[in-house]
Amino acid sequence: MDARVQQFMAMIKAKNPGENEFHQAVQEVAESLIPFIEENPKYRQAKILERLAEPERTIIFRVPWLDDKGDIQINRGFRIEMNSAIGPYKGGLRLHPTVNLGILKFLAFEQVFKNSLTTLPMGGGKGGSDFDPKGKSDNEVMRFCQSFMSELFRHIGADTDVPAGDIGVGGREIGYLFGQYKRLKNEFTGVLTGKGIEWGGSLIRPEATGYGATYFAQEMLATRGEELNGKTVCISGSGNVAQYATEKVTQLGGIVVTSSDSNGFIYDPRGIDPEKLRYIMELKNVKRGRIEEYAEKYGVEYFKDKKPWIIKCDIAIPNATQNEINEEDARLLVRNGCICVAEGANMPCTPEAVAVFLNAKILYGPGKAANAGGVATSGLEMTQNSMRLPWSREEVDERLHTIMINIHKTCVKYGTKEDGFINYVDGANIGGFVKVANAMIAQGVV
Ligand code: NDP
Repeated sequence: MDARVQQFMAMIKAKNPGENEFHQAVQEVAESLIPFIEENPKYRQAKILERLAEPERTIIFRVPWLDDKGDIQINRGFRIEMNSAIGPYKGGLRLHPTVNLGILKFLAFEQVFKNSLTTLPMGGGKGGSDFDPKGKSDNEVMRFCQSFMSELFRHIGADTDVPAGDIGVGGREIGYLFGQYKRLKNEFTGVLTGKGIEWGGSLIRPEATGYGATYFAQEMLATRGEELNGKTVCISGSGNVAQYATEKVTQLGGIVVTSSDSNGFIYDPRGIDPEKLRYIMELKNVKRGRIEEYAEKYGVEYFKDKKPWIIKCDIAIPNATQNEINEEDARLLVRNGCICVAEGANMPCTPEAVAVFLNAKILYGPGKAANAGGVATSGLEMTQNSMRLPWSREEVDERLHTIMINIHKTCVKYGTKEDGFINYVDGANIGGFVKVANAMIAQGVV
């Protein structure tokens, strides 16, 4: 490791002990940015990187709620307001038992760069709770969301901080959160995105992250004269991002052969066609069942406690969670002929896995760039809320597509090396950094 990066990381680790995912996310960015900052001393003098790694505000609170038996349950709620240099804090809420301060700080940190890349005026934030929605009744989820918002409402607002969904937070949870906010504030504003279409939501928002990651993969492939049509694609996850990545890849002629959840994955060599995808959506979004049931229904193989990366594919789109592709998985993917990895999830590849992809010079699109379509469309939802005018499906999809093409262009601009190889990690980190850094300098020492 570069001595300057090592020194910077020693400071970060000492200040944020035990926050491993946060260290990982900061180190990846520091490796891209420190050489760039050396060439542009105004950023060093203004201590931009040091300031970026310190949240503007961290809120931690108690979330007590009553379960269906009448017992009191206590969870911990968080909101990290990371950076507001270019707009209100913006980023999702995650409900998962693994949620802790370090994970949310890594997500909030990444969000700052991602939001900047979209070109829309959004700062970065992230929040959530260690509450596990799995196995809870709708009423329990509602009581939890109401309690969570009873504290969060005083910290957020349409011009201050605009949360959205993430793992464990979909349309149902956003509805309960929005209802409670409105009740407490007596205001109908665009304080959350991912809202239902009848009450301020944007068309294409549910589809946006998965569609956007697919559009990004399409752009990456085009740099090598390749296309999605006819390619075999391994997708992990079976939640929001995975479902719509599967839909768009299939529309563009790709064959998606895997789907997974935290218990294992299914392998369907003939491809998950639209009818089978409808089954997955019903299974996951309505019945809240397990992906294993797909294997029984369609008579395909189920791999318990395994990840899809053992299946031979041309393209991998990880859409589950952080660090789901390790070095060994990455080596296997490359050995099996994978030419492109587009991250639908946030930081799904370990640093060692990323190094394997970069050394093999395959197309590797980091989440900050590849999954930015979700937050970009959230930005479009905010615009529609401010105008009080909804756009059509086609209009939003076209804007999303254009934004993904532009993010790709930014990555090419800042990430192309002397030999012509596009390092999308450097491209996304530097491309996301410049606008935020310049805004911070213009706004003084704040
Ligand atoms: P969902 O909750 O809808 O789906 C998550 C999927 O990943 C589920 O299939 C879940 O399986 C699986 N999963 C979650 N945690 C783990 C784990 N620890 N190990 C294995 N599998 C796991 O979430 P989303 O689809 O919204 O989010 C997926 C990823 O995409 C996350 O990294 C998120 O941060 C990122 N992302 C999401 C955006 C959005 O707009 N929603 C925007 C940008 C990024 P199970 O059902 O068993 O829990």
